[in-house]
Amino acid sequence: MKYNAIQNYVGGNFTDASSGRSMDVISPIDGNHLSTVPLSSSTDLDAAVMAAKKAFPSWSKTPIKERVQVFFKYKTLLEKNLKELAELCSEENGKTYSESVAEIEKCIELTEFATSLPQLVTGEILEVSKGVECRTEHVPLGVVASIVPFNFPSMVPNWTLPNAIALGNCMIMKPSEKVPLSVGRLAELLKEAGLPDGVFNVVHGDVEIVNAICDHPDIEAVSFVGSTKVAKIVYQRATSNYKRCLALGGAKNHLMVLPDAIPGMTAQNVAASMSGCAGQRCMAASAMIGVGNVDAIIDKICEEARKIVPGENLGAVINKESQQRIERFISEAEKDGAKILVDGRNTKVAGKENGTYVGPTVIDFVKPGMSVATEEIFGPVISIMRTNTVDEALAIENANPYGNAASVFTQNGGMARYIIDRASAGMIGVNVGVPVPREPFSFGGWNESKFGVGDITGKSSIEFWTKLKKSTTKWNAEAGVNWMS
Ligand code: NAD
Repeated sequence: MKYNAIQNYVGGNFTDASSGRSMDVISPIDGNHLSTVPLSSSTDLDAAVMAAKKAFPSWSKTPIKERVQVFFKYKTLLEKNLKELAELCSEENGKTYSESVAEIEKCIELTEFATSLPQLVTGEILEVSKGVECRTEHVPLGVVASIVPFNFPSMVPNWTLPNAIALGNCMIMKPSEKVPLSVGRLAELLKEAGLPDGVFNVVHGDVEIVNAICDHPDIEAVSFVGSTKVAKIVYQRATSNYKRCLALGGAKNHLMVLPDAIPGMTAQNVAASMSGCAGQRCMAASAMIGVGNVDAIIDKICEEARKIVPGENLGAVINKESQQRIERFISEAEKDGAKILVDGRNTKVAGKENGTYVGPTVIDFVKPGMSVATEEIFGPVISIMRTNTVDEALAIENANPYGNAASVFTQNGGMARYIIDRASAGMIGVNVGVPVPREPFSFGGWNESKFGVGDITGKSSIEFWTKLKKSTTKWNAEAGVNWMS
């Protein structure tokens, strides 16, 4: 085992979980045994919530301009430790080193945004009648929780922790049990940056701890990022316990390619979008709809896909189960009559025979009802459908229950606008394969890709992590008398 057994992080100390249950952490790159992760019990959660509750009065009363000083330092520490954090991210998740570097760079951008929060939460004040003022303030909620998935071991935790904490909350983070190492390192960096003990806590575990979070009477808000199946469970359970909840789910993102698209740029974007992070991104292109004759562009996409080499510029998928699931989707499509133009099944990387790789896969002549057309595959696979018109393409995109992202590739601005207006997704790209809005814009999909109001990052997150206090004051004896008096 390369690393010591992982521990929870409670009240500023790393501590053993009391449950006695644990799981092995295996690197998808080569099957190496990295560590073991505890599967904590509700008793462990109670300890973390108690630590967070203890820290809250002082942290929430610290002026926000002081609170964000921790994040200026944390940002510097992320920069200083970028290489080590990126290596750890690759090791536990399987993505390539350069993808991990981009992930940590995104953490830095998210932290930069958090340092700007004092400028965004100044509140409002207005003399509403003579001598009478109304004023609003953003007030932190208390103890909040963040449950995160495996595909971005550092970035998704940093979607929530800098903003929630800078806004005055104390947090319990529940990392994915598949990639539990990075969050422990983030906890150390937060401590080094000067974050008071108890403001950030980590409780590792599985379904048991997620349920305990949703049920805990002292947790005010739950944010969740993961599959739609679990997002629905968490949203229902947390809100039935009267908690605020924002639950981001899975995706099936459609790229619509029109015949006037620039072939080289389009092919590069499609190939990069479907294969980046081994297709394990909720913003990955998973379905492409060719409108009219786009054969030349599809040829180029295949050319690009063949340049993607597992173990070199393509990482591993998270585990064997996922590898087999992806391969099953490809085989099913083939059996149903689709044509496999580039086949990533049975991929082995020399020297990393125990790694779990799937090569880039391009499937053409997919029909809208096939499972590769409708389900989230979460692997480096693009399913190509063909239509004659843009409206037929939009009908396919609109019929999908998800709604994270959609993109169009065209040189026709009017047509791009037509698609932006009609695609049923929260994030739309024009000639952009992965249309992630960058800070200060917020991240969040529609439909079954997100449950709850608002988005998880950017300005929108302020409303989720705070409640608004409205005060009306009258100090002046000559204040106007009206129906409010
Ligand atoms: P997952 O839903 O399996 O797990 C997410 C979290 O939920 C983990 O912490 C896990 O421990 C916990 N969990 C798993 N099963 C549970 C259950 N039955 N009850 C309660 N908790 C449970 O997701 P994953 O496989 O880790 O991540 C991949 C998924 O996340 C994909 O569907 C991807 O699209 C989605 N995702 C979405 C976004 C977004 O912004 N919409 C971002 C990243 C990932």
